[in-house]
Amino acid sequence: MFDQLVLASNNAGKLKEFGALFAELGVTVRPQRDFDVPECPEPHHTFLENALEKARHASRLTGLPALADDSGICVEALGGAPGVYSARFAGEPKSDARNNALLVEKLQGEANRRAWYYCVLVLVRHADDPQPLVADGIWLGEVRDQAAGAGGFGYDPHFYLPSYGVSVAELDAAEKNRVSHRGQALAALMAKLKALA
Ligand code: IMP
Repeated sequence: MFDQLVLASNNAGKLKEFGALFAELGVTVRPQRDFDVPECPEPHHTFLENALEKARHASRLTGLPALADDSGICVEALGGAPGVYSARFAGEPKSDARNNALLVEKLQGEANRRAWYYCVLVLVRHADDPQPLVADGIWLGEVRDQAAGAGGFGYDPHFYLPSYGVSVAELDAAEKNRVSHRGQALAALMAKLKALA
């Protein structure tokens, strides 16, 4: 096992969450800005391809193992959209409020409200790793017209969880981290890494 890896993101929340779990394996997680790695383009139509590209890019520029994630919301009635375009669904500059308004607008008159958050994690041991470690998570819910709750971010106020009877924005943050698409993907990645250790 390696003793450090670079995270292909500078997001403080992700660094903290990934850092805590990797610490259990004796691995230090460092943000790509520590190595002056510039943001990588995300030109692909799938989460998996974008995450793989980000991980390879960070690994190539640092010479270290690299971890990348990609996530978003997929709506069944919209053929999986906004998908990889979730962050900028309503265009630039990116805005959660405008993204949510557009999503609600597109679903007017639509009875099928099924949607899911998706997260994929890709870990490459080196830039040309022929066998990247891949783990993903799916969190099923439904899109509601009415926003509820003040927690979370992104689409959370409109993403309703029938099994909890609340929106994700109303869910306790620790519970979200445990059961979310990202939480599930991280747990699956940890299981794979522990099996290899
Ligand atoms: P990223 O992969 O972290 O860049 O997330 C891409 C976009 O997907 C975010 O900007 C949000 O719009 C959406 N998204 C991903 N995860 C979540 C979540 O847990 N809650 C709400 N929106 C999310």
